[in-house]
Amino acid sequence: MKRTKISTLLQTDKLGCAVNVKGWVRNRRGSKHVSFVALNDGSTINSIQIVAESENFDEYLLKQITTGACISVDGILVESQGSGQKVEITAEKIYVLGAADADEYPLQPKKHSLEFLREKAHLRFRTNTFSAVFRVRHALAFAIHQFFNNKGFVYMHTPIITGADAEGAGEMFQVTSLDLDNPPKGEDGKVDQTQDFFGKKTNLTVSGQLEAELGAMAFGEVYTFGPTFRAENSNTSRHLAEFWMIEPEVAFADLKENIDLAEKMLKYCINYCLENNKLDLEYLDMRLKNEESQLKKEHRSESSLLERLKLVVNNEFERLSYTEAIKILLNSKANKKKKFSFQISGFGDDLQSEHERYLVEKEFKRPVVITDYPKEIKAFYMRLNEDGKTVRAMDILFPEIGEIVGGSQREERLNILQKRMKEMNIDEKHLWWYLDTRKFGTCEHSGFGLGFERLVMFVTGMKNIRDVIPFPRTPKNAEF
Ligand code: ATP
Ligand code: MN
Repeated sequence: MKRTKISTLLQTDKLGCAVNVKGWVRNRRGSKHVSFVALNDGSTINSIQIVAESENFDEYLLKQITTGACISVDGILVESQGSGQKVEITAEKIYVLGAADADEYPLQPKKHSLEFLREKAHLRFRTNTFSAVFRVRHALAFAIHQFFNNKGFVYMHTPIITGADAEGAGEMFQVTSLDLDNPPKGEDGKVDQTQDFFGKKTNLTVSGQLEAELGAMAFGEVYTFGPTFRAENSNTSRHLAEFWMIEPEVAFADLKENIDLAEKMLKYCINYCLENNKLDLEYLDMRLKNEESQLKKEHRSESSLLERLKLVVNNEFERLSYTEAIKILLNSKANKKKKFSFQISGFGDDLQSEHERYLVEKEFKRPVVITDYPKEIKAFYMRLNEDGKTVRAMDILFPEIGEIVGGSQREERLNILQKRMKEMNIDEKHLWWYLDTRKFGTCEHSGFGLGFERLVMFVTGMKNIRDVIPFPRTPKNAEF
């Protein structure tokens, strides 16, 4: 018999039909005479109940139906006698496809901590929380592609191994095939990188932006969606060494159009989940309420997960300049009473996550876009403003998350770009191809980078970035 997914069965009203389901046992309870098996196949947060009368089955077979086992069930879909579900399956035949030793299987039908489950990342997809999180992650990825495809953007694959030393977004991981115990050395005693695989030093990319700009100068509108790597040794709940980034790049667009695009995209994706992942989001909303009820009042969020998602979708993002943001922070009670770990002293200060969250959660109570940062704290490719002090940068800050998007209008004027590179000690030789776009048909253009995991964190309410990527890569951790 052909298998039907549990998500389909739970929505159908075709009672009395013969069906086949396959999945993993979440839980089995019952009596000597009858077993109730909660079976889940990952198609929905909900499990289907299988009812097996003991007299119809071999005793040894029933014994093997333990939490974690994979089984196939032929049976009849009937109206459920119990509460909690509309339909259930009266089992006629059960096949144990893969037993799971009950003494060894680590996931028991009880609440496990997120930390414990991180160590069992190979199995954690089989819990309600992580099945919901990763279905939402999938939905967000799909929504992003759909959003850009609908607008006629070209999806561009930028390289993961890069020879450009100067992407300027963070510490890089070096890629080499040299024998590290015995590398070839030049006359100066240093490692001879011309003998390495690519004939020069290469790294894992920290951003696809520079290459995306090349695409925008031909297709007009492109985006990347791929893995990026940063060797920053910051063990925070918002940083991974390997994460996924979405980077649109748009010709003929200024900073305002860039922000409009980012705002539309974020709202589109969140709306997509609200419409298509209702059950998962309701579950995650409840999970977060339970988790926060254990916390002291001052550590609880002011709104629930679903409220927060709707708040973002239904409100315009607040837009203000860096200079205005600094003024607000300087005058804030938190700063005057020295509540921040990093005091704000004036123009030039980099905003820390605590300041970003103050602006979003206390001051404006909605997403905030900060523009026109001092050039010293931003990358070389951002367009210099008339004032000579600030650049056309924008960061989008979200409740609970802080920075979720970083973007800018790009410097399209060759001479100013060269001057900025010199000021920041970036060797033109390495980026000759990037500078070529400014020589051959340059034009106004803008783009941004959205950290995919930060978006997944926001939509799922998970507080640690390690819990929204299947197998997190963080300092001292590359298991699985
Ligand atoms: P942060 O200040 O949070 O470290 P950043 O300024 O280094 O961020 P950008 O270089 O602008 O970030 O990167 C664009 C986006 O990529 C950020 O807005 C964020 O959403 C995401 N991002 C950056 N670094 C990481 C990381 N280590 N892990 C996960 N996401 C990241
Ligand atoms: Mn960073």
